[in-house]
Amino acid sequence: FDQRDGEIWYNGVFVPWKDAKLHVLTHGLHYASCVFEGERAYGGEVFKLEEHTERLHTSANVLGFELPYSSEEINAATRELLARQNLVDAYVRPVAWRGSEMMGVSAQHNRINVAIAAWEWPSYFKPEERLKGIRLDMAEYRRPDPMTAPYKSKAAGLYMICTLSKHAAERKGYADALMLDWRGQVAEATGANVFFIKDGKIHTPTPDCFLDGITRRTVIDLARARGFEVIERVIMPEEMEGFEQCFLTGTAAEVTPVSEIGPYNFQVGEITKVLMEDYHASVQPVADIKAAAAG
Ligand code: PMP
Repeated sequence: FDQRDGEIWYNGVFVPWKDAKLHVLTHGLHYASCVFEGERAYGGEVFKLEEHTERLHTSANVLGFELPYSSEEINAATRELLARQNLVDAYVRPVAWRGSEMMGVSAQHNRINVAIAAWEWPSYFKPEERLKGIRLDMAEYRRPDPMTAPYKSKAAGLYMICTLSKHAAERKGYADALMLDWRGQVAEATGANVFFIKDGKIHTPTPDCFLDGITRRTVIDLARARGFEVIERVIMPEEMEGFEQCFLTGTAAEVTPVSEIGPYNFQVGEITKVLMEDYHASVQPVADIKAAAAG
């Protein structure tokens, strides 16, 4: 993946993709002083770019550092990166980390580096395939208590248990894993939030120890705009037996139906389908919607 054509925005300049390197003694690598974002461009525009950039700043601040670039600079760099590479439907990965000046747990004065990469990633919204639903395993690791890990940061360190859980699930033939939290309550998947449906109502865990995803909030708004009741609450794993539908939300996952979690089965029902369509419509750039309305 590091030997491609293209450019990466690296500390304020565009460098060839292959040359976007860092030193092995980087603090972010050894001590996980690293935060990142996952964004998606549709029709050449990043969906909710401002919110993602805000979250990147918040993530850094929670880990005790400031990004040396303003939101305006990061947003402009992202737009220019897409334009220079003619990317239309793309994934965008901003990342910020403490550099290699000092080695040790403390690295108060290490340089804060910021990079942004983007690559083509067509929207995989193929309803026929996605409508089968994906299968999830139950993860062994649990989301830590907020007293144990700074969960409001999209911090690289928090993804250690996500990668372990996802790999374990994939080895068993599942697409992903559902993680409980330290109390044993349903939390989220390894890179996406989870929703359930029963009797026409939508239930989702309260995000008090995991990321309150931008897609999650978008889908809650879309569901409420349709008149559905959305209940954020504690969900115990045994309750999954009684739920009729289940889906995941995330920048990468968009709205993905789930057919199975461990011993529990779900249908891909009407409400899930409606929300997939509403989400798909809402991510389209305003210019495209105007063009569609005119034409
Ligand atoms: N939880 C985790 C662990 C994630 O990695 C993501 C993806 N960023 C999400 C939830 C969903 O967040 P968003 O909708 O903002 O992409």
